[in-house]
Amino acid sequence: MEEYDVVVVGAGPAGCTAAYYSSRQGLKTLLVERKKRVGFPVQCGELMPTLELVKKIFKNLPNPEELFIYPENVVEQEINELAVGDSEKIHFTIEMSLCSIDREKFDNYLFRKAKESGAYTMTSTYFSDMKNDGTILLKRRNEEFKVKTKLVIGADGIFSTVAKKNNLSRNEKAYPTLQYTLQNTKLEDDRVYMFFDRMNSPDGFVWLIPKKSRRVNAGLGFPKYAAELTKLKTQLDNFISNHPATKSSLEGAEVEKVTAGWVPVGGPLKKTWSETKEVKVVLIGDAGGFVAAHNGAGVPGALITGKIAGEIAYLNIKEHKSISLYERKWRREVGKPLFNSLKILNMVLPLYQNKEKFEKLLSRVNKKLIEKAFYTEIPWQFHLFPLLKIIL
Ligand SMILES: Cc1cc2nc3c(=O)[nH]c(=O)nc-3n(C[C@H](O)[C@H](O)[C@H](O)COP(=O)(O)OP(=O)(O)OC[C@H]3O[C@@H](n4cnc5c(N)ncnc54)[C@H](O)[C@@H]3O)c2cc1C
Repeated sequence: MEEYDVVVVGAGPAGCTAAYYSSRQGLKTLLVERKKRVGFPVQCGELMPTLELVKKIFKNLPNPEELFIYPENVVEQEINELAVGDSEKIHFTIEMSLCSIDREKFDNYLFRKAKESGAYTMTSTYFSDMKNDGTILLKRRNEEFKVKTKLVIGADGIFSTVAKKNNLSRNEKAYPTLQYTLQNTKLEDDRVYMFFDRMNSPDGFVWLIPKKSRRVNAGLGFPKYAAELTKLKTQLDNFISNHPATKSSLEGAEVEKVTAGWVPVGGPLKKTWSETKEVKVVLIGDAGGFVAAHNGAGVPGALITGKIAGEIAYLNIKEHKSISLYERKWRREVGKPLFNSLKILNMVLPLYQNKEKFEKLLSRVNKKLIEKAFYTEIPWQFHLFPLLKIIL
């Protein structure tokens, strides 16, 4: 049976990054991915923070430039502002340094980096089970085989099989989302939009993210837990055809592709590692719940926890440091912004469920406060939200 120091399950941004950091330190690392084609289909709005914004949000992150300088051919569009609107109009715009990327290219760039640093890779390969002695059961085109390892990095997304097989809790709260990539739009290309539109899409919020060549990712995320996809589709279509602020720019646009998926919104899991005498397990990216709950951004958390896990792999295997160090490290580097993001969601959600009150709030709130929330800071005024629910 082939033996590896580390087996990484899932070749999304989290897994590729973990495999890169683990293999570049000389650990024999295997990266397995169930899909044949890495990064396809894309299930992402493809909006990313620039390095400048990352430094504002993840203040305790060492060397952010290692993860957040994207290759030129991956960046689709520079974005300078965020517009926030309701059913009728845009209420305010906030300066914000973002960009849209091509996720398939980005995932493949990360996959190549992992390979070039020495990681072994297997696509069309499904992780199905593991034993307490570190034996891993993999399936490739109807063929089952085993490998052995000292450390498993679960980077297998929101419904992580690695978490399930190791009795680690899994993401309990998640939002379903639906997104179209539209072509031939006439929207400004350096502005991203967020609409809380109670008339056309009452159950969720809509985003519009510009890409290159007059294309836009138009999506709808639901703050309800068991929504039907047909309802999402009707509401997204309604928004596109009717919203007064954008309908003329979206008129005549054609749907190039459709995607749907789930976004974890419960914050990082309570426990993100486990160990037996012979094998250790850590969860990273969506598998560990490392998503900003109030806006659904998960790629930054995936990259950061991927790097931490890859580095801890070396400390654990070569220097016999405890695997619990992984959790201590992610708490220090990403804990505060991600837990704040969850708090913000929980403060806003009760108001958001009453759309009229939410619109009143939007029209009265100082834009500086909203800006702070996007940087995952919690202004003291947010603590008054439960009161506003009664007053407004
Ligand atoms: C519609 C939508 C829009 C989004 N928009 C944004 C956005 O604009 N910006 C942002 O930052 N985030 C966004 N997100 C979230 C973001 O896409 C995820 O947080 C991110 O992909 C997480 O990366 P990951 O590597 O943890 O997991 P994934 O990208 O989900 O990768 C997991 C990989 O594991 C593989 N896998 C799963 N099970 C197994 C198994 N048993 N064996 C082998 N392989 C397995 C899967 O095939 C997959 O390739 C969005 C999500 C959705 C659904």
